[in-house]
Amino acid sequence: MPAPLLALTIDVEWAPAPIVHEMLAEVEKRGVRATLFCTDTPELEINSSHEMALHPNFHGESDWIPTFEKLRRRHPHAVGLRSHSLHSDTRLVRLLPGWGIRYQSNLFVPGQAVAPFRRETGLWEIPVHYMDFFHLCVPSRHPGGFRAASLPSIQPLLVVDFHPIPWFVNASTLADYEKAKACYHEPAKLAALRRKGPGVAALFGELLDAAAAGRWRSVTLRETVELLDCDASDALWNWPLSTGTASRR
Ligand SMILES: [Zn+2]
Repeated sequence: MPAPLLALTIDVEWAPAPIVHEMLAEVEKRGVRATLFCTDTPELEINSSHEMALHPNFHGESDWIPTFEKLRRRHPHAVGLRSHSLHSDTRLVRLLPGWGIRYQSNLFVPGQAVAPFRRETGLWEIPVHYMDFFHLCVPSRHPGGFRAASLPSIQPLLVVDFHPIPWFVNASTLADYEKAKACYHEPAKLAALRRKGPGVAALFGELLDAAAAGRWRSVTLRETVELLDCDASDALWNWPLSTGTASRR
């Protein structure tokens, strides 16, 4: 039985570049690859083993093209998109393939074994099984606390989503994150808020250690759609029948 796949994703948001670089250094130390959903951080320098995807903020905008185009110019080869706040609707699903986007990852399915599936326009939807922010919001859903054991474990492809600031301060409550937001762009002040013990960073480290030890094989989301596109038989995924498997074209 091959190792399940792990897609580590990071919503870069507006985090200071040094913090993102430090987070990626942890990832690279364990030979893991990440998919970064990027906003507009021009000074970000990313090792080519990672995937750059787009993280537009469509809030309050009726014309999404300028926001999309601005990000597209910064990352001309991106094929993936996750909107801020996971915003998506049928209009966006219609627009994205025409903009060269092959997948979106705009659906959170906490802990559930939901496989990637195609939307009505052929766009891949890659659901997210774990998100640090929701862990902070609803800790009771994660009785194991901030340990790798609290992560969903039955997915042949596990998609996890982390954010740099809760990671940097090792938040373990929403209040930790809220406190950090007050100095979001000031790494020195954020450094003073770094916590020890259980928290987002501790879990992140455990996850990376487990991946490095062979519990998962690390993939980017672009690789995932490439695997799906050439896997006509569905054999690769072997999802439990009870969850249903989306038909593929
Ligand atoms: Zn966001």
